[in-house]
Order: sequence, then C-alpha cells, then structure tokens
Amino acid sequence: MGSKKVTKIGVLTSGGDAPGMNAAIRAVVRTGNYYGLEVFGIMRGYSGMIDDEINLMNSRSVANIIQRGGTILKTARSKEFFEAEGRKTAYQNLTKRGINGLVIIGGDGSFTGAQKFSSEFDIPCIGLPGTIDKDIAGSDFTIGFDTAVNTAIDAIDKIRDTADAHDRLFIVEVMGRDAGYIALHSGIATGAENILIPETETDIEALIASLSEQEKRRKLVNLVVVAEGDKFGATEITSIIKKRLPNIDTRLCILGHIQRGGSPSCLDRLIASRMGFHAVECLMNGTHNVMVGILNNQLHYTPLDLAIKAKQKISEDWLRIVKILAS
Ligand code: ATP
Repeated sequence: MGSKKVTKIGVLTSGGDAPGMNAAIRAVVRTGNYYGLEVFGIMRGYSGMIDDEINLMNSRSVANIIQRGGTILKTARSKEFFEAEGRKTAYQNLTKRGINGLVIIGGDGSFTGAQKFSSEFDIPCIGLPGTIDKDIAGSDFTIGFDTAVNTAIDAIDKIRDTADAHDRLFIVEVMGRDAGYIALHSGIATGAENILIPETETDIEALIASLSEQEKRRKLVNLVVVAEGDKFGATEITSIIKKRLPNIDTRLCILGHIQRGGSPSCLDRLIASRMGFHAVECLMNGTHNVMVGILNNQLHYTPLDLAIKAKQKISEDWLRIVKILAS
C-alpha cells in the first residue's frame, strides 16, 4: 500500500470497449474533482500515455455521457507498452504533469500492464473491471457484462421466433473467447436447448444424440448457444450437424459486435459509478494497486496481481440448471 499523497490522477480505458465505461470515467472525474484532485483523461489506453495524448478534464467534460456506449476516451491495444522503453516514456509524460495516480478501466491484460507499470514506477494504479466477458475473479459483475447479455437475449429471442415459424434449428454464436459467461447467461435466459462454453468439454456425439432425440419427439424450437471460444466453434458445429442430421433445417447466426455496443443497462451504469467513485477513494486513502470489485453487494479489493491470475469459475450449479431446464 502506498504512502505518497495522490493529488493528480489519470484515467484511461484499455482493451476491448464495454458499455458502462463512460459511466465509470464520469464517476472518476466527478469524484476526483469533488475531493479537489485534478483529473486527466488519457486517450486510447496506454497508447495515449506513450503518445502524450493527455487532457485535463472537469465535470463538464463528462456531461451527457452516462447513457452512451463505447468510451469517450477511446480504447486501444498498445504494443509499445509491453516494452520497458514504452512504459518509461509513459511515465515521463505523466510526471511532467504531476500525475501521481492512475485508474485503469479494462480487462486482465490491462491490469497486467498496470501491475508492471506500478512495480517499475512510483505511480499507484487502481483497476476497474471493464469487460463484457465477466472473466475476472473478485467481482460478481464486470462493467459491460449485463448490457452485453441483454443485447444477446434480445437478439436470440428474435431468432427463436423465426426458428419456431420454420421449425429450424439455430446455432447462435455469442462473444466470449476465453469465458462462457455470456453464452451461459443468455442461453439460460432464452431457454436454449444446448449451451457450449470453453470451460466445459464439448461432446459432439452427445450433442448430435440429443438433437436427434429431440427431432424424433418433434420438439419444435431448437436453439444452441455457442461461446466464441468453444473448442469446435459455432461454424464447425453447424457444418457437422448439417452433415450428420440432414433432416434438420439448421442455420448459423453469429451475433458479433452488436454485443459490445449500445446504451449501458441500469446495472452497468450503477456498478460503473460505484466502482469509479471507490477507485478515487482508494487512491486517496492508500489502498493502492488493487482492482475494485463488488462481491455480495460489498466493495471488494483484489490486489492486481491476483486479479490477473484468478479467473471467475463457472459454478456447477449453473451447469446442472442448464441440463435440467433444457430437457
Ligand atoms: P479484453 O478483456 O477486452 O481483451 P484486456 O484488458 O484483457 O481487455 P488486452 O488486449 O489483453 O485487453 O490488454 C490491453 C493492453 O494492456 C495491451 O494492449 C497492452 O498495452 C497492455 N498489456 C497487456 N499485457 C501486458 C503486459 N504483459 N505488459 C505490459 N502491458 C500489457
């Protein structure tokens, strides 16, 4: 935990964008200003720190953004920040303005960068989990997840209508390269018959057997929700089913980037505001180099090095629920 008084802070969004990031930026700026801190917005994640795109913000700079998706600070992936030289340049750009604390809104990669940076230089960092994937331990929610799942549900409900009208089987791919939470939640909430996620071994033979059995008993609506990171992937699964079960009219739908955009849900705005507020308090009271999360409706601080390593596990409970409710 740090000791130096934090007086000027920088805030940035990094990695993939997530709805609610703007609400978090707004909370950081307004809380910082409330406590008399200067708050700087750093553009395009770590790239802006290196390229010196750093602007003083105030309450007005964050007006009318709480309801907007994306991020007004833009986001990026910075190769240069992986290099010691890049991080040194970033440090010089911060210190010439007197910035002595950082709030990083992003995923585990962004926290890895923050952890490295804070261990090399005397600038404390606070991470806010901003990712639609909900793949970070230490928080029941990540900023953007709720909105992304609701977008997926909305789309899958519509697909269900056409699946029903034509007696088709739809294979729907949702986002989640390493984590199956979007697939799991959206699949359960839309009554999908099968949900395939990277955390569990996909058994193609069992899937074929279950679809074939459903075809025999003329179960009319069939939805299979597949996470992007599933071992086979939605495209390959579709072609296997078409080959093995030619009597089923099977279609593929990849939801793609619509899941990232859009106005954040109430939950995402609330958690982003709460996390942003506490990030500033952490910097001020010396709780440094942690990720601010919310567990059981309580604030929870996870040291950045642990937040990087620990993945949020899918509980057995959910997997049992999927099996029983889809039958
Ligand atoms: P998402 O979950 O949406 O992918 P993320 O934060 O995990 O978000 P990454 O692309 O993994 O996204 O990381 C964002 C940025 O963090 C990288 O482009 C890089 O600038 C920085 N970063 C990641 N890992 C490291 C590392 N080992 N050392 C230094 N910087 C890193």
